[in-house]
Amino acid sequence: VEWTPEKGWHDARITPYGPITLDPATAVLHYAQETFEGMKAYRHEDGSVWTFRPEANAARMAKSSRRLALPELPIEDFVQAVDALVQADERWVPGSEGEKSLYIRPFMFASEKFLGVRPSQHVTFMVIASPAGSYFKGGLKPVTLWLTTEYTRAGKGGMGDAKTGGNYASSLVAQQEAYAQGCDQVVFLDAQEGTYVEELGGMNLYFVFKDGRVVTPATSGTILEGITRASIIELAKGLGHTVEERKFSIDEWRDGVASGDIVEIFACGTAAVVTPVGTLKEAGRETAAPTAETGELTARIREALVDIQFGRAEDTHHWMHKVL
Ligand code: PMP
Repeated sequence: VEWTPEKGWHDARITPYGPITLDPATAVLHYAQETFEGMKAYRHEDGSVWTFRPEANAARMAKSSRRLALPELPIEDFVQAVDALVQADERWVPGSEGEKSLYIRPFMFASEKFLGVRPSQHVTFMVIASPAGSYFKGGLKPVTLWLTTEYTRAGKGGMGDAKTGGNYASSLVAQQEAYAQGCDQVVFLDAQEGTYVEELGGMNLYFVFKDGRVVTPATSGTILEGITRASIIELAKGLGHTVEERKFSIDEWRDGVASGDIVEIFACGTAAVVTPVGTLKEAGRETAAPTAETGELTARIREALVDIQFGRAEDTHHWMHKVL
């Protein structure tokens, strides 16, 4: 789908997958004016195909686009584009065995060719998809984390709550550091005080306390408002837990594990759903995982979510959208 100020969104079409040609002066290649989304389609046992909260992805993309001075794609058009792509080639949606699914990547970019710095007057929106196996082969494996103190993901007034490539580009060097330390993912702290836990490179965080409280860092404009994160708030409340969205310091993490007050930590996102957090490594010290195995609530929430997504549990929240 293309956009210009004169025509608005126009020329929606489905084409065979393949390379696209861009002029070397295309704005996105220079100024990173782009936004994207990540979501999945699931095949249920009866053969039907569903997406999970596509309107939430559409709304988040609209918000990201406003921040990047890109035009908003109406929610209905976003959902329709994703539906059309999946319907056109549904053979790529795997069966539900092993929690396989179709990963869907909608994205929007500045496609005008010019070298000045201003919002692009030509914008392109595309959707591509690729079958996704289970994220962790061989079952749930805790993610080990590296705490970066040198790099932050986003500051006040920045674009941390937008899903845009620049945020990921700036996180790569920290992610490289994590790999070099033998860790899977990087933990980012807030840019202003450097004490509050924000999120991982591609997942949000949850802390479970002994008294049943569940805490997740508040979304104050600097972290990505995960759709999995938002869904877990509802699921945890449904299981009788009190959920606190608030500032959560790195000291509270270290002390909570040391004193035994924190009994589970997990990370969540579309790709990995819910996954236990293992050791937190940082320069000069380590904080162990509160539990050696997957925590009880971590497992329950994961199962509750996956069962809804694959149609094995009743969708009481009306999260699923039927595509086929
Ligand atoms: N934070 C970041 C930085 C991410 O890239 C993602 C993945 N989109 C998330 C959190 C989790 O978001 P969601 O649950 O919508 O996948």
